[in-house]
Amino acid sequence: TWKDILSIAREKLPQGATEIWLKTCLPISLDRGKLVLDVPNVFVKEQIQSRFLSGLKDLVADRGIAREVELVVGTEVRDGEQKRAENALKQPPPPNPDGLNPNYYFDTFVVGKSNRLAHAASLAVAESPGVAYNPLFIWGGVGLGKTHLMHAIGHYVLEHLPGARVVYASSEKFTNELISAIQNNKTQEFKAKFRNVDILLIDDIQFLANKESTQEEFFHTFNSLHNAKRQIVLSSDRPPKEIQSIEQRLVSRFEWGLVTDIQPPDLETRIAILQKKAEFRGYDIPEDVVYFLAQNIPSNIRELEGALNRIIACSQLNMEPITVENATEWLKDIIKMQQQGPISVDLIQDAVASYFGFDVEDLKSSKRTADIALARQVAMYLSRELTESSLQQIGIAFNKKDHTTVLHACRKIEEMMKEDLKMKKIVDNLLSNLRSNSG
Ligand code: ADP
Ligand code: MG
Repeated sequence: TWKDILSIAREKLPQGATEIWLKTCLPISLDRGKLVLDVPNVFVKEQIQSRFLSGLKDLVADRGIAREVELVVGTEVRDGEQKRAENALKQPPPPNPDGLNPNYYFDTFVVGKSNRLAHAASLAVAESPGVAYNPLFIWGGVGLGKTHLMHAIGHYVLEHLPGARVVYASSEKFTNELISAIQNNKTQEFKAKFRNVDILLIDDIQFLANKESTQEEFFHTFNSLHNAKRQIVLSSDRPPKEIQSIEQRLVSRFEWGLVTDIQPPDLETRIAILQKKAEFRGYDIPEDVVYFLAQNIPSNIRELEGALNRIIACSQLNMEPITVENATEWLKDIIKMQQQGPISVDLIQDAVASYFGFDVEDLKSSKRTADIALARQVAMYLSRELTESSLQQIGIAFNKKDHTTVLHACRKIEEMMKEDLKMKKIVDNLLSNLRSNSG
């Protein structure tokens, strides 16, 4: 870790180098053999460069930490004007003039069961705006990819129909621009901006609730575009009918085209998303860590991404490898390993029976076919892991007189999980489903 480097530097580098100069640095990344240090200002940078940078390079190279050391002045870690000025010079201006996020393309969107329809509809609309479905209304919970899809449509249209006019705005931005247009006598400009477009993307339309005059204006915008066969795409956190305090005539228009939803992603999709994001950032995250994240952060893709970013950052800052053990430590405030509500043996029996395709009665019977016996043992194991029931109580729930049957089942499943990755996945899957469905 950085601390270790500092203590070695204290011995090997010229006196005072560490105390006076190096201690003011922060390691910000270690990637492809390059250690990047954040230094507080240009002066410190020059001092380090001229006095002992080459010594420091040798020191980390000899220990196999990094081949190169780069010093950068005031990045994100520090605040202040200087940082902003520096960054402005280094990076191309991030917000595109069209307001579209440069990361949100169809290419970077992972399709799974939970978002397949919304994705297909978005692509259809992007391919033939104004023709396929108008409006397209996408709804779903926070962090599930609505905004990503809307931007992807925008990018696609701009790429394939050069000169197309694409406007993306959140409904709040729409509202604010309308208010300021009214205050500054610029309502004509406002109308021109939102009505002379080929495709209008309005995000989080639920925020129009209770804003009567904005709804009124949006109603006219909508009609004008729709009559002209221009594409409208809307998103919301709930279906049209459930948006409270929004005019009925708008609700019914929202349903004119296609209403499609995005559901929380299943485990496979979560894994695929993590792999794609890691790959995109040039990282190779071990499979068991990807699995661990996907398993423990069940519902929200934004959180999943946040967790991935966090472990990458922690691994760089602490210079420690990305392992399940480290990830558990780094994410301990995010991951709720503890179950929240009581899970009953009944619930487990139901879940296991339907997973393996048996009746609950089979699990409770004394049938000994291999498949049923295995499912029964899994259910017993899960009951011990997830409930407060004693081995006796679990035995009774399975019509077993003797609790040693339960004990035996638990041991057997534990053994199997060690040896058989597929078995481990099955059990882990059931564990996380049961946990996320409880409480
Ligand atoms: P919403 O608008 O539904 O709240 P966002 O579109 O902002 O969600 O998505 C949250 C984050 O998750 C974004 O960084 C987005 O890129 C990412 N994301 C969501 N769905 C997917 C997906 N299917 N594939 C890749 N990334 C996704
Ligand atoms: Mg959004």
